[in-house]
Amino acid sequence: MKTSKTSPPREPQTLTRSHYHRGVTGSNLGRTKDVNRRVVLEAIRTYGPLERAEIVTRTNLAVQTVSNIVNDLIDEGLIQKGPAKPGRLGPPARPLEIRPDGAYSIGLSLDQRSVLGCITNLGGRTLASEEVPITGLSGPDAERLICALIGRLQSAPGDVSSPIMGVGMAVSGPFGVQSYLMDGPTSAPSWLSNAVIDNISRKIGLPIELANDSTASTIGQRIYGIAKDAGSFAHFFVGYGAAVGYFLDDRIYSGADGNAGEIGHTMLMPGGHSCFCGNQGCLEQYLSLYSARHQLGADVFSETGLMQFCESIRDPDRKTQIWLNDAAEAFRRAVHMIEQMVDPDRIIVGGYMPRPVLTAILHAAEPLYPSIRQRGGSGDPRVILGETGRSAGVVSAAALPLYSNMNPSLDIVLRK
Ligand SMILES: [Zn+2]
Repeated sequence: MKTSKTSPPREPQTLTRSHYHRGVTGSNLGRTKDVNRRVVLEAIRTYGPLERAEIVTRTNLAVQTVSNIVNDLIDEGLIQKGPAKPGRLGPPARPLEIRPDGAYSIGLSLDQRSVLGCITNLGGRTLASEEVPITGLSGPDAERLICALIGRLQSAPGDVSSPIMGVGMAVSGPFGVQSYLMDGPTSAPSWLSNAVIDNISRKIGLPIELANDSTASTIGQRIYGIAKDAGSFAHFFVGYGAAVGYFLDDRIYSGADGNAGEIGHTMLMPGGHSCFCGNQGCLEQYLSLYSARHQLGADVFSETGLMQFCESIRDPDRKTQIWLNDAAEAFRRAVHMIEQMVDPDRIIVGGYMPRPVLTAILHAAEPLYPSIRQRGGSGDPRVILGETGRSAGVVSAAALPLYSNMNPSLDIVLRK
């Protein structure tokens, strides 16, 4: 783990990969580092409601081990007995399920214009949300404002007996790559650094976990979305830029520096538009809100502008049709590359690009190029449209602490 305590001062300040503040827990969930507890929790979350015998079968743990863990989890309020299910013999069984209000989590989606925050329960239900503008604020002012926002969200559930697992923060990547100057108001604010996150964590008394938008959305799809039971999938995030999150072999794959899947600057359209990264034909020059803004003049930073953009896609003029065709072609090539490289069960498409635009791009991208994921007549789609919009993004940010408290992958357990 890299923290500001061991990192040299930075000028300009940067963010490094996922940022974990285990010294300040603020919850009673410290013991969830135990692998078996995570395995049982994950089994119930993914496949529940489950009877104890079903948990034993699914987890391969000993009967007594499951029994002890289940009793602990019930005592801690994280799981509960569900409605009675008539049994063949004896009294009706009451399978075990996650207790939605057993714990809470706070999510923050942060760009240069605003911070959108929410608090969710274990079931993924949003209890409160609030957006606060931060345009033009200095780092210390923004820090104070974020602390105040988290404070208001913390008090929203009312039930103070259940712990808040932590804060998940989603921002645009890539992290710690000085040469890639991200252009535009949806990139991370320049004042946001590991030191600032440390300060906020100390002040609010909660751990903060940081991920790029794409990784956060991937975890959100796994925890709450249509990939709840998928072992390997890719989440294609189309926002101001474009990136892919990978959930492979039952774990998130983020790469050495947390930048896996930053495919926005992959040169998929050879000889194409010049990119600010210095190359030509980069994916996000064709498939992104940045592209819509620069190629079509779309006002992608206002609700009205986005609605007008959607209208123009519904009834495209020649220039818009060319943009749509190019976006679809870039998407087809990206899908082919992702499938050939990592063999995901499916690719889920989401992000901040308006849903009607993504729908039009997916439609225009058919037929996809043949790949190893070609399923013949099985009928399973290779590409699925998932949750879109910033509200889905902030719920995904809130899923970050849940994921690291509940996912049994060894990389999580062994993390220092
Ligand atoms: Zn580029």
